[in-house]
Amino acid sequence: MDAQLIDTHCHLYLPEFKEDIAAVIQNAEKQGIIRFYLPAIDSAVREDLFHLEALYSGKCFAMMGLHPCSVKANYQDEMRLVEEWLGKRPFAGVGEIGLDYYWDKTFINEQNLAFHQQIEWALQYKLPIVIHSRDAMDDCIAVVEQHQKGELKGIFHCFTGSYEQAKKIVDTGLYLGIGGVLTYKNSGLAAVLEKLPLENMVLETDAPYLTPVPFRGKRNESSYLKYIAEKIASVKGKSIEEVARITTANALKIFGN
Ligand SMILES: [Zn+2]
Repeated sequence: MDAQLIDTHCHLYLPEFKEDIAAVIQNAEKQGIIRFYLPAIDSAVREDLFHLEALYSGKCFAMMGLHPCSVKANYQDEMRLVEEWLGKRPFAGVGEIGLDYYWDKTFINEQNLAFHQQIEWALQYKLPIVIHSRDAMDDCIAVVEQHQKGELKGIFHCFTGSYEQAKKIVDTGLYLGIGGVLTYKNSGLAAVLEKLPLENMVLETDAPYLTPVPFRGKRNESSYLKYIAEKIASVKGKSIEEVARITTANALKIFGN
């Protein structure tokens, strides 16, 4: 494909790609993917994240942050490391951060504290945020609204909410990260996106997770971004080139050139 795409959210540094990362990057480039944004999770995988970024400098871009599912009893130690790293070198963004009430509700208060704090750091360093929200969309939107005084940029990664929630996100100036869930028959996401402009969307795989149809159930990889772009094109009645052009411009607007 001639059109250029950006995978705004992929975890290509995880063990799932240890054996064939060179082929994974190459396959993606063949599909027109020019950049890969790598959200952080926690200190356990940080070295692998930095290693991949160094290996594909100018193509892979690391973010810094503490994932809500990694907010545990020791979260203050993890947060100290995030703060240190943010002061030490540049990053593409602060992510992924947010709230996850699905897997474990034990540390909801701590998740909220970490979310607020990391948004403050993003504002301090003028970085976009990448939000992970699961069973917590309204709370996440409320937190963003609270911090949005015109400066906050970012993405609601793997957006799967309602039209009303999408509208609120767009109104705060943040973007909708659209991934493989759009290709799942029962997601209802197509009907939501039909009513929203491409100018508010970016593309992502969340590889190795959330694999789009026709590979659902297998490992996800960045080259499959084209299935997501194709699906958006058909939902919006636009060409895949236009989807690529607009979503790539959006990603560059968020993360900078
Ligand atoms: Zn992720």
